[in-house]
Amino acid sequence: MQPKDLVQLAEQFGSPLYVYDAEKIKSQYSRLTKAFSKVEKLRINYAMKALSNIAILQLLRECGSCLDAVSIQEVQLGLHAGYSPDQIFFTPNGVSLEEIEEVSALGVQINIDNLSILEQFGTKHPNVPVCIRINPHVMAGGNANISVGHIDSKFGISVHQLPHLVRIVENTKMNIVGIHMHTGSDILDIEVFLYAAEILFDAARNFKNLEFLDFGSGFKVPYKKDDIETDIEELGKKLSKRFNEFCAEYGKNLTLIFEPGKFLVSEAGYFLAKVNVVKQTTSTVFAGIDSGFNHLIRPMFYGSQHHIENISNPKGKERFYSVVGYICETDTFANNRRISEINEGDILSFRNAGAYCFSMASNYNSRYKPAEVLWMNGQGHLIRAQETFEDLIKGQIGLPQAVAK
Ligand SMILES: *Cc1c(COP(=O)(O)O)cnc(C)c1O
Repeated sequence: MQPKDLVQLAEQFGSPLYVYDAEKIKSQYSRLTKAFSKVEKLRINYAMKALSNIAILQLLRECGSCLDAVSIQEVQLGLHAGYSPDQIFFTPNGVSLEEIEEVSALGVQINIDNLSILEQFGTKHPNVPVCIRINPHVMAGGNANISVGHIDSKFGISVHQLPHLVRIVENTKMNIVGIHMHTGSDILDIEVFLYAAEILFDAARNFKNLEFLDFGSGFKVPYKKDDIETDIEELGKKLSKRFNEFCAEYGKNLTLIFEPGKFLVSEAGYFLAKVNVVKQTTSTVFAGIDSGFNHLIRPMFYGSQHHIENISNPKGKERFYSVVGYICETDTFANNRRISEINEGDILSFRNAGAYCFSMASNYNSRYKPAEVLWMNGQGHLIRAQETFEDLIKGQIGLPQAVAK
C-alpha cells in the first residue's frame, strides 16, 4: 500500500484506524503453501487470536485456510464466519474440562496440553480423536514472554513425561490422532526448529493411529530494518524433506500442519493515528497521538518496535521524536525515533499492525475501539465500525435501586 492511500483512508474513515491489505495476506498465504508444496498433505490453521475480524477469517477461508482457535468463543466466531467444525482446531491452554467437552461436542478437533485433563477426558470419552500438545523444551526466541517451549513454560506436556502419557493412553484406550508443538513466537534459527521437529517425530513413534503432525508456528516477520525474518523457503525445503522421510518410516502419509498468526497478517496491517499535540520539553520532543495502549499495546507490553512513518509529510526533514499516547499512564510507542517533521494534525502510520494489535485492544480510559478497514482492489472497505457510547454501557446495570435508596 502507498502512503497516499493510507492518508486518503484516514480522511475517509477518520482516526484512529486499522487498515489491512488483503493482497498481502493472500501473498503470505501462498508463500507459505508454496514453500511446503513437496508435502502431499498440508494444512494451514490460521491462529485467529492474532486478528479475528470476521472479514479476515472469511478472506483466509477463501485462500484455503483452516482455523486455530484458543477459546470456545473463537470457535464460535470461526463457525459464524463460515468455517465448518472440521476446519477448526482447538488448541487452548489451561481451560476447563467442560470447555473442552463443549468444543469437542461441536465436532472440532481438540488438542490437550496437560496430563490431568487428558486422563479425565480419555476416561469419559475414549472414542473421541484427540491431539496432544508436547513441550519439546526448545528455546526459540530470546524473550521469556514469547518463548513457550522452554523448561519452565506452562504450555504443553513435557517430552520427559512421555512414559506417563503413553500409560494414560493405554489405560483409557483413547484415540490419539495428532501430535502438536508450538515452540514460541520467534523462530530465529531454522536449525532450532528442525531440532524440535526431531523431538516431535520421536514422540510420534509412540502412537500408531496418527493422522497429522502439527508444528505450530513462531515464524518471525521483520518489524524494523535489519530484523531477521524466518526463511520460510529454506525451512520449507528442509522440513518437507525430513517430514516426507518420517512419513515413509511411519508407513502413512500424515498431514503436516502449521498454525501461523503473525506470518499471515502482521505485515498486512497499518495503524493510523492523528497527532493531537507536539510538545517540546527540556529533553525531547513529544508527538502525542489520538490513541494509546488501549488500541496498540505491543510496544508497552512486549517492547515491540513498530516502524512509524509520518504519511502526511513523508518528504519532510527528519527529527527525533518520542511518540506517546493520550492515556493517563505512561504510554510510550517509541523513544528517540527518527521521523520526518511532525506537525499537529499529521497522520502517523504504524507498520506491522495486523497481528496482536486490534485483537488486544481494550476500552481503557473509556475510549472506543477503532474502526477496521480492508484494502481490496484499490479501495477501502469498512469491516468494523468504530465503537459508540452504546458499546461502552452495553450490559451495565447501574446501581441496584434497593441500595441507592
Ligand atoms: C498464538 C499461537 C500461534 C500463532 O503464533 P504466531 O507467532 O502468531 O504465528 C500458533 N499456535 C498456538 C497454539 C498459539 O497459541
